[in-house]
Amino acid sequence: MANRKLVAGNWKMHGTAESIGEIVRIAAGVPTGVDVALCLSATLIERAARAVPGFAIGAQDVHSMERGAFTGDVAAHQLHDARASFVIVGHSERRDGHRESDTQVRAKAVAAQGAGLKVILCVGESLEAREAGCAISIVSAQLDASLPPSPVEAVAYEPIWAIGTGRIPSLEDIGEMHAALRSRLIAAYGAAGNVVRLLYGGSVKPSNAAEIFGVADVDGALVGGASMTAADFLPIVEAAAES
Ligand code: PEP
Repeated sequence: MANRKLVAGNWKMHGTAESIGEIVRIAAGVPTGVDVALCLSATLIERAARAVPGFAIGAQDVHSMERGAFTGDVAAHQLHDARASFVIVGHSERRDGHRESDTQVRAKAVAAQGAGLKVILCVGESLEAREAGCAISIVSAQLDASLPPSPVEAVAYEPIWAIGTGRIPSLEDIGEMHAALRSRLIAAYGAAGNVVRLLYGGSVKPSNAAEIFGVADVDGALVGGASMTAADFLPIVEAAAES
């Protein structure tokens, strides 16, 4: 049986108090039959969670340690305390921009799960790897090395070259990658690997969402730019609910 779809928005370093109205509009428009979360900057999490009780608010990163002298970082239990229920780990903007290794991503996932957060773990290849024909082996190895011992809530396949560019892989390439990742999840978790949701991320828009959700083993999406407004995000959520 197909997994229930999850559509998660990643607001990146956007959003202030003025954005709460948009978050309320998004939460109010979510149809039944699909799970939705918005992953926000730490500064907005608690305000948003109070404004839309029952709607899932998440974070975009977490530190791997429970507490300590880590200036500027946020611990998993602090995110939970702020009412986050999800957290993204291993986004390529963290892996590349902050030199996060697979080992660190795995440790972050373990810490997040320990605090009761649902983990969306990101993997994805560079354009060079895609063009060299080794995307599947590179992303599979990245996943194997980043997965924590307990099943994550979702894995997001995000080709780095598709993030914020308007370009997406062919539907065949998405299907091939998701099938490979599913087999890695089953190798890691046994039957529980079947229910880890596999999200596609990278330039998902209202215009391409339905065809992406039609690909086998695509259990939802991680959406950046198009998650910032109800006008763009809700049609994507509706496409997931209808697929
Ligand atoms: C992302 O940041 O995870 C992302 C997928 O961005 P976009 O949808 O803008 O490509």
